[in-house]
Amino acid sequence: MKIYLDGALVDSAEAKISVFDHGLLYGDGVFEGIRLYGGNVFRLEQHLERLEYSAKAILLTMPWSRKELADAVCETCRANQLKDAYIRLVVTRGVGDLGLSPWLCKKPSVFIIADKIALYPAKYYVEGLEIVTVPTRRVNPAALSPAIKSLNYLNNILAKIEVKQFGALEAIMLNDQGFVAECTGDNIFVIHKGKIFTPAAQQGALKGITRDAVFDLANELNIPIEEHDLTRYDVWNADEVFLTGTGAEVIPVVKLDGRQIGDGKPGPIFSRVLEAFRRLVLVDGTKI
Ligand code: PMP
Repeated sequence: MKIYLDGALVDSAEAKISVFDHGLLYGDGVFEGIRLYGGNVFRLEQHLERLEYSAKAILLTMPWSRKELADAVCETCRANQLKDAYIRLVVTRGVGDLGLSPWLCKKPSVFIIADKIALYPAKYYVEGLEIVTVPTRRVNPAALSPAIKSLNYLNNILAKIEVKQFGALEAIMLNDQGFVAECTGDNIFVIHKGKIFTPAAQQGALKGITRDAVFDLANELNIPIEEHDLTRYDVWNADEVFLTGTGAEVIPVVKLDGRQIGDGKPGPIFSRVLEAFRRLVLVDGTKI
């Protein structure tokens, strides 16, 4: 496997980062998870824009243009002869000393891994997921904005450990006020009386690229969609629930904490959105 690392494609065994890199020492860096569908990188521009916003939010100046990063993503896919893949684009603060000071890190590093996709098993797209609510709350935006896709994912990892302890695959994370924020690695959508609702970024949701695509698709399909504060009460009373993410795409949820949602089956609005999404990924991409 070839890895793109700071301007060159190297073998994975040679793709090494310093132990003094603040990405490793402090989770000081930003990243994107991107999909390649049939030789097209899905919404590459939007991913690179979100990366730029994440970097700007932590005052990390990236010395590469958007075009250079886009070319590097495509080059990595081509070098690995991939047509369908999961791409991880990572920018670290770079090498510094053992102190926190980010200004001692003179040069950020960038690396790109393009690999096979680890998907939810296919049966869950037909039967739906059973999710739980985990005790770990989404980090308070006043402490660290969840809109920043940073290398510091410990909040989500703690939640993911709880997900496993409950025997589930995904979970709702509430924010510190008890509103639904998102899931450990996916955004959440609730459908009630023909309308789709999803928490706003201010409630602790990442501005997901797939979430964004669902807004576009719902508008095209004439299904009303809006950001709205949600509690678990809203999920209990939902007709349908689904999650979105680069890896998950659009996946239905049929139970929360053992309670059945709607009629316990993936619903008609979910099905329309999934079908439209599967069509979209084939056309809305950058050719590698
Ligand atoms: N929320 C979190 C916490 C995530 O890590 C992700 C990405 N896996 C998402 C939501 C979904 O975002 P996207 O659609 O851009 O993958």
